[in-house]
Amino acid sequence: MLVTTDYTEKKTVLIATVIKTNHQKVLEEIYELNSLAKTLGAIVIKEFIQKIKQKPPKTLIGKGKIEELKSFILVNNIKLVIFNDNLSPSQLKNLEKTLTSEVVDRTKVILDIFSKRAKTSYAKAQIKLAQYKYALSKLPKLWTHLEKQRGGIGFRGPGESEIETDRRNLRKSIKKLKKNMKLIDKQMKTQRKHRKNLIRISLVGYTNVGKSTIMNLLSKAKVATVENHLFSTVDTTVRKIQIKKQRFLLSDTVGFINNLPTQLIDSFKSTLSEIQDSDLLIHVIDITKNSFIKHIKYVENILLEIGRKTNLIIKVFNKIDRCRELNTKQSIIKKKYQDIKNILFISALQKTSIKLLKQKIYALTKRIPR
Ligand code: GDP
Ligand code: MG
Repeated sequence: MLVTTDYTEKKTVLIATVIKTNHQKVLEEIYELNSLAKTLGAIVIKEFIQKIKQKPPKTLIGKGKIEELKSFILVNNIKLVIFNDNLSPSQLKNLEKTLTSEVVDRTKVILDIFSKRAKTSYAKAQIKLAQYKYALSKLPKLWTHLEKQRGGIGFRGPGESEIETDRRNLRKSIKKLKKNMKLIDKQMKTQRKHRKNLIRISLVGYTNVGKSTIMNLLSKAKVATVENHLFSTVDTTVRKIQIKKQRFLLSDTVGFINNLPTQLIDSFKSTLSEIQDSDLLIHVIDITKNSFIKHIKYVENILLEIGRKTNLIIKVFNKIDRCRELNTKQSIIKKKYQDIKNILFISALQKTSIKLLKQKIYALTKRIPR
């Protein structure tokens, strides 16, 4: 059985390591990690950012810092330590022992948020698969032996160590889950065939950029969850919309984030097939973020990884109502991206330029044969 971490009201510290070259990136990541932890209910007391030359293998951070952390944890009654870095099973074990506190890493936090947010049974299965794979990579941690005690599936084979039994059981569960998901995949494919004659559009982008807000505006129905949280929507929603006489299928997909766990990308591949099959992608970008160019690259890389059949992409720079130095940013964008006619600046909140977006969608898809 998977071990779940309880974050609620737990006094928490965050720890990130930096090397010379990635300082800015780590600062952004820890800012995101803070907001992820809060979303799960943790009370973040302090962030520790530790400069390191190279990663010491046993505990990830050096002896001096460990001592500082230990006393901070003791004095402040800290119950949970979240690392921005991905931890190996032995690092996890050593850190928990030394720090006398529960320790988790960024990947675990993201998986926990996804698991909390998933609504459909399919999304739940996808996340469970990712969690199993993650647990497999973290053995002997994160997996309890309840099944074994119940005398069920998990009896230990002859000459098998506990960790081997766990590994075998986890693999079994993964196989079973994959089989179930294949069945659902098949059903979804059939459903999709029925909708083949409609033009398909997907909203893609980093998390919290306004995808669901735009979905609501275009579909005129308050269906998607809009929240100022990372990953408020992890299920794909599909709605029919109409612009002029043309009908479309619009899907709102899960948002991306820096260092999205590979286990998640893997198990979300079939959800992301909405993206693969789309005739047009609307890439939404939060222009208020300083790192928005990096976010664009990051999303583009994931799009490459999952594959897509279309080259039709509209870049929608959202939240212009809240953007400082909008003019400077706009000219940077215009200089950087050649395909200027497929770029829009909007505010979904104030409904600025939504009409333009609709016109653009209509114009770009006009020639797609149906
Ligand atoms: P998603 O994660 O990409 O689906 O983003 P959401 O649609 O859930 O929006 C994330 C947050 O950004 C919410 O608090 C929205 O109200 C806010 N938001 C969306 N569009 C705009 C906008 O144009 N301007 C401002 N200021 N906030 C916006
Ligand atoms: Mg959303």
